[in-house]
Amino acid sequence: MKKSIAIDGPAGAGKSTIAKKLAKKLNYIYVDTGAMYRAMALYFIRKGILKEEEEISRACEEAKVSIQYIDREQVVLLNGENVNHLIRTEEVGNMASISSANKEVRERLLKLQREMAKKENVVMDGRDIGTKVLPDANVKIYLTASVFVRAKRRYNELKEKGEASSLDAIELDIIERDRRDMTREISPLKQAKDAILIDSSHMTVEQVVQKIIEICKQKNGEEKKEWR
Ligand code: C5P
Repeated sequence: MKKSIAIDGPAGAGKSTIAKKLAKKLNYIYVDTGAMYRAMALYFIRKGILKEEEEISRACEEAKVSIQYIDREQVVLLNGENVNHLIRTEEVGNMASISSANKEVRERLLKLQREMAKKENVVMDGRDIGTKVLPDANVKIYLTASVFVRAKRRYNELKEKGEASSLDAIELDIIERDRRDMTREISPLKQAKDAILIDSSHMTVEQVVQKIIEICKQKNGEEKKEWR
């Protein structure tokens, strides 16, 4: 049986940074499910589809998302094309937040995510990993932070990349994305009953990683060595 750690939470809570570090420490594979939704979204943008449900359902049949690992780094392929460098924009993030509410999109990616967790020990992050994708995950974390802190992190990230943005606009965008992710009908973002809540608003990345390692050790008391 492979081991899995599920990390869910809203946009900007630091899931990917933390999941990546954790996976490295544990020598697990990091699976970024948001990147899969983003790759699908890129396909819809290229097709000129904005939010029409039927068109999204139809077009997602043609969009084959697959994952490869190069030096243990996740590479997302869209119909065979490496799209890693194209999916980190605000436009793609916003489209992903819209198209991820679509049933067909979710069903396709759910299958891929479960297959990956069957083959490898994984740290998987997203919105519905603990509630839907891996309900039997060994450890479930719900990672969050205040809207202001999440917006400030995003603002600093964009500033570093030399991209102009306004903190107010980012804050509004985050509130809207949270609303969409938390209120959609299928697999809305929520804390799984057995997930442990971590609020990272006043914690460093290292503190959060350490806390999750502690939780893993506790949960797995009899096999402590594995989590070291
Ligand atoms: O995490 P990231 O911002 O890359 O995800 C982009 C979008 O994909 C999210 O806003 C969310 O709507 C969607 N998503 C999802 N379920 C997941 C991962 C991401 O619905 N497991």
